Amino acid sequence: MVRRMGKDTVKFKCHHCNHCCTEVVCLPSPWDVKRIAKMVDVEPYEFLEFLEPDEIEGVEDDDPTWLNVGAKRYMMALERHETKGCHFLDRKTRYCSIYEARPLLCRLYPFKAQESKEGKFKGFTLHSDVGCPKHQDGVYEVKPLFDLYVQDDINQEDYHELVEIFNAREYENKEPEDFVTMFMDGFATFLTDDQDD
Ligand code: SF4
Ligand code: SF4
Repeated sequence: MVRRMGKDTVKFKCHHCNHCCTEVVCLPSPWDVKRIAKMVDVEPYEFLEFLEPDEIEGVEDDDPTWLNVGAKRYMMALERHETKGCHFLDRKTRYCSIYEARPLLCRLYPFKAQESKEGKFKGFTLHSDVGCPKHQDGVYEVKPLFDLYVQDDINQEDYHELVEIFNAREYENKEPEDFVTMFMDGFATFLTDDQDD
């Protein structure tokens, strides 16, 4: 059932059940990764993992962010521990330890943008097929959510283009981590190291 929202506000309150930070795989964009790496001052490889199709559910086969590496393909995700959840979930407080820099998808969860057939924004609902208990004893302003939604749309388009470039290149010893190197150093290594072949 789709729950209609008011025009300027959405009824929702997070009760910090931790479901989204323990059970849901978080898929950051390259811009999320850059922002997080800057905040925590570590190499992205320390908090990312690359999942094969049988390790992740709910991602379409034709999703444009699959990284092709030889005969295999991978999805870039925040590292998640089987029982403890997201790499950035504080084990003691059970709150996000990178709250200010967290991925846009974390900020938008569990809100879902409604679009018309022409792709025009209509409003927000709460995702019906996620595990969030969707408590409605609070109110969110739609405007900041809409700004996030627009920014995420732009980021995703650019993400798709970057993956397309990465996937088009085949070279010896290609690894999914090379994608991170590619966007972290602004293409420099990617475009010089592998053009000699
Ligand atoms: S980055 Fe933070 S908000 Fe996002 S899943 Fe991890 S702990 Fe939760
Ligand atoms: S699943 Fe919903 S209620 Fe639980 S922590 Fe996430 S946003 Fe909050």
